[in-house]
Formats: sequence, structure tokens, C-alpha cells
Amino acid sequence: MERESMSYDVVIVGGGPSGLSAAIRLKQLAAAAGRETSVCVIEKGAEIGAHILSGAVFEPIALNELIPDWREKGAPLNTPAVDDNFLLLTKKHALRLPTPPQMHNKGNYIISLGNLCRWLAQQAEGLGVEIYPGFAAAEVLYDDSGRVKGVATGNMGIGKDGQPTGSFTPGVELHGRLTLFAEGCRGSLTKTLVHRFNLRDGIDPQTYGIGIKELWEIDPAKHVQGKIVHTVGWPLTSDVYGGSFLYHLENNQVAVGFVIGLDYSNPWLNPFEEFQRFKTHPAIRPIFEGGRRVAYGARAINEGGFQAIPKLTFPGGALIGCAAGFLNVPKIKGSHTAMKTGMLAAEAAFEGLVAASGDEAPVELASYSDKVKQSWVWAELKKVRNIRPSFHLGMWGGLLGSAIDTYVLRGHAPWTFHHTPDHTHLMKANEAMTIDYPKPDGVVSFDRLSSVFLSSTNHEENQPPHLTLKDPRVPIEVNLALYEAPEQRYCPAGVYEIVRDAEGLNPRLQINAQNCVHCKTCDIKDPTQNINWVVPEGAGGPNYPNM
Ligand SMILES: Cc1cc2nc3c(=O)[nH]c(=O)nc-3n(C[C@H](O)[C@H](O)[C@H](O)COP(=O)(O)OP(=O)(O)OC[C@H]3O[C@@H](n4cnc5c(N)ncnc54)[C@H](O)[C@@H]3O)c2cc1C
Ligand code: SF4
Repeated sequence: MERESMSYDVVIVGGGPSGLSAAIRLKQLAAAAGRETSVCVIEKGAEIGAHILSGAVFEPIALNELIPDWREKGAPLNTPAVDDNFLLLTKKHALRLPTPPQMHNKGNYIISLGNLCRWLAQQAEGLGVEIYPGFAAAEVLYDDSGRVKGVATGNMGIGKDGQPTGSFTPGVELHGRLTLFAEGCRGSLTKTLVHRFNLRDGIDPQTYGIGIKELWEIDPAKHVQGKIVHTVGWPLTSDVYGGSFLYHLENNQVAVGFVIGLDYSNPWLNPFEEFQRFKTHPAIRPIFEGGRRVAYGARAINEGGFQAIPKLTFPGGALIGCAAGFLNVPKIKGSHTAMKTGMLAAEAAFEGLVAASGDEAPVELASYSDKVKQSWVWAELKKVRNIRPSFHLGMWGGLLGSAIDTYVLRGHAPWTFHHTPDHTHLMKANEAMTIDYPKPDGVVSFDRLSSVFLSSTNHEENQPPHLTLKDPRVPIEVNLALYEAPEQRYCPAGVYEIVRDAEGLNPRLQINAQNCVHCKTCDIKDPTQNINWVVPEGAGGPNYPNM
């Protein structure tokens, strides 16, 4: 069936901080030059912000550059960071450690990144950007020369059996003279571009963590607006990279979350249960007792840093923000670098559009890579590049390595540590220690299903699966046989279940795709890379209010 098409100067895939900043910068440049430049942003969430999950302590450096009068324009930065705490937890105690310099947050704000994106979208629309939430880019479009010429949104109204239903609507082609991919961490189209254009040749593999987060309303007597707490240690064993964050926002809210490096090796580890157990620590539990959990969600986070930044451009487009991996791991911050790289790509794109004659498409955006290398983003990420990999020596080795790198070498070590892909790290289940997790108490700890309920996740049930298996035999013949089906444990939404018949025989993998919160962990951690996450129908997925 013929698809309708719409043409723009620049098509942006993803309405997060990077995509929206790129859109705003393009329109600012066009207005200053008195040029018509058409820009559209498509977003798979039902509205802008619906799929955004972050901490978030926000460093306003890029926002100051993009919209210097953001205060007057009412940006939702309402809670200045006032107090940084860094704790080492043992099973019963909490020991305060000096806060590492990267975690000093003076001048930063505790925010909902989802709400900041909603506000950025208003600014973008005010400048004439067309924003289409509820549309998932399902396919990259190429012209005859192999150049990216845009994306197509997925068809709507295809049934589970792959046949059109009564509500069938074909996808739409969005043609761009340039296309910017701002899909965030582990973007599904970004993955295909990296492969097709060999963007990772000679570059370290990207590595990841899973971040699980809850939003609470707590007893006002325990709330200290602007307070920031990070912890390392219990309940994780020292071979697992990770820790927690607690950020006291406005309105007696606390954002609490747990991040675990996906290079963990024990297939029995369950990131969701580690997070629930963390909240039962004697120093943490009292914060939440008497409070109310209002939201839940999860999202993968880039951990590869500087040495994992791929080639950024290809004919017809570029990668920006966390799609490219611009996250400062020791800071646990990537929204400032996402915004800045979006802005730099916009500047390069605008130069390219001006230089190209008529409707001709600009050539590859080479100046974008140079602009990134000359910006504060490059210097910032380069300086901390050895910190995350030093945790391959375990927590103590990592803390020591980080201290030497930060205080003695000051980021100028003449070496760079490297990464190996996360999915290669799992041990066989029979060689690893099983882990007994306590039952949820329903006060501070909960089960997965009641948690997913708080993410307001919804998918049209009658649609082809968006969690696709390259080989349907692998979940049982490999994953269950060797690793006791780790997807049952690493998925924070309980999507994957091994079910058996009445006699307890004939195991098969059941995929409850409607619960998927789009965190992308399965796409990353599956040991044989057999799971391929593709976009479901637009608007499906979580509906985060202010995560
Ligand atoms: C648990 C956690 C805590 C964090 N804490 C902090 C913090 O405190 N401070 C900080 O600065 N950063 C933090 N980060 C990182 C920060 O959230 C990211 O760096 C930032 O969100 C990256 O912005 P982005 O625009 O590149 O991608 P994203 O914010 O991920 O946005 C991508 C958007 O694109 C959409 N999209 C993806 N694919 C498609 C498609 N095919 N079609 C249409 N739409 C699509 C998504 O739905 C999403 O809305 C944290 C991240 C996590 C997971
Ligand atoms: S199915 Fe995959 S992407 Fe969806 S919630 Fe589970 S791990 Fe995350």
C-alpha cells in the first residue's frame, strides 16, 4: 500500500532533551538568518514526556546557552540542589563518605526531566516546530544512493497474526533533507544505523546500566527540599557496579532509584529485587514509611562514556544525545550533554542547509563531529573516561581507582581502559550463587506487577509482538538450559515468564509484551542477543506523569 509522505528540512526522531534542543536551535538559527526551515519531531510516547525517565539532577549549562531567559519563561526548575550526601551502606549501617567532586551539585536543580521536556516542547512549538507525539519511527528510509532520507512511522491496526484489522492505517513517510536520531539510550533505529554504516568500527562497545525508579510522596516532616543522597554498597555484592539515588523534589516528593551495571555476571541477580531490598535498609526505610508510592518505571542508561562514542554522522543524518552515548557516568548525568549535542548537530545541520543549493540535500554533517570535539562535552567526558571501567576491579578497586584518577591524575592518565559487551558477562546458572530475595512487605517494598501498574503502561493487545526473537528455540535451548532464563529476572516489568504444562513439563517462554516499559534491558543483556526490541504501535508503552 502507498504511504503518504511529508517533507521537511530536518526530521528529528525522539522528543527527549536532545531532540527538542536540536529543534529549538534550528528554529532559532533560521529566525536569526531570516530563512524558512521546516523541522518536525516525532515521539513514540502518547505525549512528550510520557516515555522520559531520569533521576534527575539537572546541570543547566546547556539550557543557559539555549534559552538564557528560561527563568522568565517559566522552565520547571523549581528545586535548587542544596545538600550532597554520599553513603556507603553495609547491611545494618550507613557510613558517610566524602562526596566525589563529580557528584557536587551546587548550581544544579532537582527536576522531573519529563516536565522539562514538556516545557521544551512548548518552546519549540512556539518557534514553529511541528511535534507529533504518538508516532513511533519504525523504519529508516534510504534513497537509491544509500543515503538516509527520513523515517517511516509504523503501520497502525495490524493484528497479532500480521494481518490488517478493521482499524488499519498505513504508516507515514517523513522525508528530511537531514534526519537527526535522538532516540535515547539503545535506540532501535540507531542500532540499525550503527550496523549499516559501521559507526562503531575501532570504537569500544557501548555498555549500559538499568535504572529503576519510583516517585514517592513522603511525610513532610522527613522531607528536605533540595537534598541529594547517593549510596553504594549493600545490597549489592562488591563485584556488581551500582548504587542508589534519592532526590528530594518539591511538594514533599522524593525520587528514589537504583542503577545496576548490566555487566553483572550472576544470572540469578534480579535488579528489581535489589532495588526493593535497598529500600528496607535501616537508614533508608524510615524515609518511606508513612509515605505513598506514586509512580514507577525503568530505563537503560549508557555507561560506555568517551571511549564508546561512535562515529556520529552518516550520509543524510547524525546521532545526538544518549542515542550516541553522551552520558557522564560518574556524574550520572546525560541530559546536559544530550541538549548540547542536539544543539551542535542543529548548528552543523543549519550550516549544511544554507550551503546546499535549492532543495539539494546537504552532504554528511562532518562539522558536527568537529563541533562536539571542540565543545565542553568532549573535555568533560574525556576527563572521566577511566572511572567506570576501573570498577571492573570490584567496588573497592573502583573506588580506589576513581580516587587516584580524580585526585592524583586529574583525568590526565596517559591510558584509556576499555569495555567488553554486557551480554558476554553472564556465568552459567549452575556455577553462580543463587540469591534469596525477601518477600515484599507492601510498605516500602513491592512486587513487579503492582509496580508496573504505577507506570500506567498500555499497549494495543492485538498487534504483532514488539519483543521479537531471532530464533524461537534459543529461550529454552540456551537461555533456560544454561542461565535459568535470566530474562525472567532482569526485566523490571515481568514481561518474560517460563511457563510449563500441568505436569511441570514442556517449558516455553511467554512474553507479556503489553507490560513492557521500553527500558531496552532485554535488547542489551540477552546473552545470545536473540531478543530484538522494535517499536510497538505509536503511543504504546508507559505513561509517565513526571519521571
Ligand atoms: C535512572 C536514570 C537516572 C538518570 N539520572 C540523571 C540525572 O540525574 N541527571 C541527568 O542529567 N541525567 C540523568 N539520566 C540520563 C538522562 O535521562 C539522559 O541522558 C537523557 O534523558 C538523554 O536524553 P535524550 O534526548 O538523548 O534521550 P531520551 O531522554 O531517552 O529521549 C528519547 C526520546 O525518544 C523517543 N523515541 C525513542 N525511539 C523512538 C522512535 N523510534 N520513534 C519515536 N520516538 C522515539 C523516546 O520515547 C524518548 O521520549 C538518568 C537516566 C536514568 C535512566
Ligand atoms: S521487555 Fe525488555 S524493554 Fe520491555 S520492560 Fe522488559 S526488559 Fe525492558
